[in-house]
Amino acid sequence: MEQRSLYDYTLTELTALLQSWGEPAFRARQLYRHLYVNLVQHPEQMTDLPLALRRRLAEIPLSTLHREHVQIGDNGMTRKALFRLPDGAVVETVLMVYPDRSTVCVSTQAGCGMGCVFCATGQLGLLRNLSSGEIVAQAIWASQELRAMGMAGQSGRVSNLVFMGMGEPFANYDRWWQAVERLHDPQGFNLGARSMTVSTVGLVKGIERLAEERLPINLAISLHAPDDALRSELMPVNRRYPIADLMAATRHYIAKTRRRVSFEYVLLQGKNDHPHQAIALARLLRRSAPRGPLLFHVNLIPWNPVPGTPLGRSEWERVTTFQQILTDYGIPCTVRVERGVEIAAACGQLAGRQFIPVNAVGNES
Ligand code: SAH
Ligand code: SF4
Repeated sequence: MEQRSLYDYTLTELTALLQSWGEPAFRARQLYRHLYVNLVQHPEQMTDLPLALRRRLAEIPLSTLHREHVQIGDNGMTRKALFRLPDGAVVETVLMVYPDRSTVCVSTQAGCGMGCVFCATGQLGLLRNLSSGEIVAQAIWASQELRAMGMAGQSGRVSNLVFMGMGEPFANYDRWWQAVERLHDPQGFNLGARSMTVSTVGLVKGIERLAEERLPINLAISLHAPDDALRSELMPVNRRYPIADLMAATRHYIAKTRRRVSFEYVLLQGKNDHPHQAIALARLLRRSAPRGPLLFHVNLIPWNPVPGTPLGRSEWERVTTFQQILTDYGIPCTVRVERGVEIAAACGQLAGRQFIPVNAVGNES
């Protein structure tokens, strides 16, 4: 049985809990504000609650994420936290601070069972799903970190959240969606749906479910190859959901939501970065797109090194050639500028390794 923390409760559930203790409903709203707006680190800090209630709350873990350490890169602007869970599993969260915004990259599972060959998390296998509270608490940590950094000018809270850390969000759909709703709640953390992005390996059922949800969060799909043979080699999930099924689900999603979809494409030298593969990708997207304005976008990601794989990162010239071909075909295309490579905090490098790289700028615990 998972240990439940205060971040695992909805406001309705907290209200029921406190009522069962004989407390009025407004106490639950006070508590909820302490958790999601004041970002308290201990019930003792909830000084407007009666002492007896604070003591009782202290018997429930505030969060089940125990921060083991934070690694710092990019002159302090990228921070990767490693959290240990009560059962010993570890997860990582990355905070990236920019002059005008901040983004937190959140994990949804400990490890991942999808086995993509280019991904460090995939090498771990699936350890377990995270609870909604364990997902939510990562965003809370990032906001606390921003406040501690004196970045309160940005309202001391994260402006963007991407579900691109460890794990496949749609393989943990229910808990993940509970976390989305709680982070969105205007009475609490109040993060706009359009400020959240989920990335999926391409689980068709998850895409179909997302199309029916009421919150318009952004969808990114990991494509990484223009044909089934190569995609199956890189991503075993393609044998279950081949490209045609993925594209049909994407068309359905766009028909339902009229929202733009991003395709992620990791560039691997000599593997999927040939000009003829860029042409094949452009043609695939053109023929798969629904009628009307093109609501597709491609995000090219130069591969971040993962030890123990025979793969290589595409040279910059190959990246720009690939991008140019897609652009010539009228496909909007950007190259993702990576953060945190030197502290293994970039896309696909999260594996719970506990070393401190020699070129990390600093370390705090
Ligand atoms: N499981 C989800 C989300 C987490 S991974 C998914 O796969 O989409 C977030 C993104 O990083 C995905 O597009 C993934 O394919 C990509 N990625 C994985 N390993 C990478 C690596 N070593 N370098 C760059 N991107 C990587
Ligand atoms: Fe899992 Fe995504 Fe890594 Fe694939 S790329 S192994 S789905 S985390």
